[in-house]
Parts: sequence; C-alpha cells; structure tokens
Amino acid sequence: MTPPGPPPPDGPDPDPEDLVVPVALPGDSDVEASLRPRSLGEFVGQQKVREQLDLVLTGAKLRGTPPDHVLLAGPPGLGKTSLSMIIAAELGAALRLTSGPALERAGDLAAILSNLVEGDVLFIDEIHRIARPAEEMLYLAMEDFRIDVMVGKGPGATSIPLDIAPFTLVGATTRSGQLTGPLRDRFGFTAHMEFYSADELTTVIRRSATILGVDLRADGATEIARRSRGTPRIANRLLRRVRDYAQVRANGAITRQVARDALAVYDVDELGLDRLDRSVLTALCRSFGGGPVGLTTLAIAVGEEPTTVEEVCEPFLVRVGMLARTQRGRVATPAAWEHLGLAQLREDSIAAEATLFDGLAP
Ligand code: ADP
Repeated sequence: MTPPGPPPPDGPDPDPEDLVVPVALPGDSDVEASLRPRSLGEFVGQQKVREQLDLVLTGAKLRGTPPDHVLLAGPPGLGKTSLSMIIAAELGAALRLTSGPALERAGDLAAILSNLVEGDVLFIDEIHRIARPAEEMLYLAMEDFRIDVMVGKGPGATSIPLDIAPFTLVGATTRSGQLTGPLRDRFGFTAHMEFYSADELTTVIRRSATILGVDLRADGATEIARRSRGTPRIANRLLRRVRDYAQVRANGAITRQVARDALAVYDVDELGLDRLDRSVLTALCRSFGGGPVGLTTLAIAVGEEPTTVEEVCEPFLVRVGMLARTQRGRVATPAAWEHLGLAQLREDSIAAEATLFDGLAP
C-alpha cells in the first residue's frame, strides 16, 4: 500500500503510455486517417522532399542502421504527420507519437526514450514547443543515444547515465525559426514543406474521392482544389463538406456548380480565403488603415490567438500576396484591398492623407 502523505512535488512518475499516442495504421475507421497516404509513392507533390527523403531512407536501409534524425518544417496540414508515418512504414519500424507541449518535464521524455526499441521512429509534433529541460535531454539522446536521469532532489541529487536504443527522431514544426540552434543542428535532414499547387491538390482530392466513394467530376475537383489554400488537409475537409451538400441538396454528384454553391454556404471564397482570413484582412484595412499593425493587436481585433493568426492564416495570406510582414508590423497589400472590395476606400484615404500634407506644406 502507498503510505499516506502529500505527493512528491513533481507528481508521480509519468506512465509513458499517457504521453505516447499509439497509431493504428491500416483499417483505421477514422475518415481523416483513411485518407492519409501510406507510402512515399502515394504521397502527392513535395517532389524534392520525397526524393531527398527516399535517399535518406534507402541509404539507411542499405547500411542496416537507423537513418539520421529528420525535421519536417512547414505550415499545418501539409503532410508532416503523414510523412512521419510513411518514414516508419518504409523502415518497417514502429512509430511512437507525442508532441512538444506534452513533454513538460524531462521525466516525461525520459519515460518515452527509455521505452524505445531499437529502430523505433519517435515523432514529436510541434517540437518547437518542447520545454527546455526535455529539450536538453534530447540533445544527448539524439547524438549519443544516452540520457542522464536525475535521481533524488536538491543537493543530494545525482544523475545516472542510461543507454537508450538507437532510434530515429522525426520532429515536426510550424515554426522552424523558433527552434534553438543546438536542436536544429542535431537533425541530419530538414525537409521544408511547400504549399501544394492546384494540380497537386486536384490529385489529392481525386484520390480521396475514390477512397470515400464520392461521385466527383473533373471540374468539381479543380474547383475545390483552387479554393483549398494550397493545403491537402483543407482540400480533404472541403471535399467532405461539398459531398454533404451534393448528397443533401443535389443529386450526389460534385460538379463545379455544386462545389461553388456548397463552398458559398461554408464562407469559402473564390481564392479559398475563409472567414478568419477575411476578418484578419478586413480588420487590417478597416480598423488600422492597412497597417502596419502588431500581430497581437491584430489578433485581439479578430478575437483569435496570435499563434493561430500567425501560423494558420498568415502563411497563406503572405503567399497569395495579400499581407506583408514588415519590421513595423503587418501590412495589407493593394491586392487585399482589391479582394475585399475596399479599393475605393483605400484611394479615398490616400487622397485624404495627401490633402492633409498639402494643407501642412508652407
Ligand atoms: P500536418 O502534420 O503537416 O499538419 P498531416 O500529415 O496531418 O499534416 O496531413 C493532413 C491530411 O492531409 C492527411 O490526413 C492526409 O489525408 C492529407 N495529406 C497531407 N499531405 C498529403 C499528400 N502529400 N498527399 C495526399 N494527402 C495528403
């Protein structure tokens, strides 16, 4: 029986099973999971990354050793988790899945690392959010397959070195700039994931439609692809929403017109901007005269977390040339004013400013 008394200040030792999410691969009933590509061959687009990764994996397989640690960097929904599963599958290895925010204490990570079996792939999502003590433990683990476990507390604490099984770390980050130098340096290969072209997204959507048994016409596929913000996760999500619409309000077939009508219901516009994208741009133009304005102020104006605005909205708005990140803050480009139908407002405010300066001239 456990003696009564207060729990130790750090809490009980974590059960590694609470921190690591087991991943069911084939036969997964979850729709999102069923749409995941399962091999590099099924993985659409990202040709450069696929080629580089293929070399890394094939080389390691030839040598019979675990490959170098891999860092996958890019905005959400571009396939980082899918790629980590593919890496494990291609190596015939087990995949252990966790995330930076789950690793609050070094002990959390020690519990996972000491349970790894040789050759395992450990996936840490959002690795830039890992707590400092866990990150420091990771340095030694990545480099020497060793960890130092602290035993005891205070001045009597000692560290005991512990060997761990050679493994491959796959880290994913939406903010590679936030990774510390020492952590970044320990990855042997970094894949920079790019937004997908409309053609690539069309391929993703057609593949998903086949898996889901949806009657998708060619013009319907291109219409959804065009509005998917360069992101496969969004493409699949829009496909499912359009499928609902097609089944409920049309005859089940997804044509261009059905896709357009459905996406209008879900507030996805011609360019794929959703409600949050448009509120960010609208606030920027209407409330802050087009900027520059700081990220936090802008996020408060639209009632969102700064990280959501920064990591989810902005990469795409920057990519389509509607928003610029400058040292002084965020700025709406002329294309943003145009897209929101506010071009006249912009001209009026520029004219008003010019008049003001004229009035001030000696
Ligand atoms: P991330 O980890 O970068 O947020 P995910 O790997 O979870 O992205 O991908 C989200 C979804 O998008 C997956 O379920 C998968 O269906 C789809 N997907 C992502 N990349 C691809 C791709 N290259 N080819 C086909 N489908 C993809």
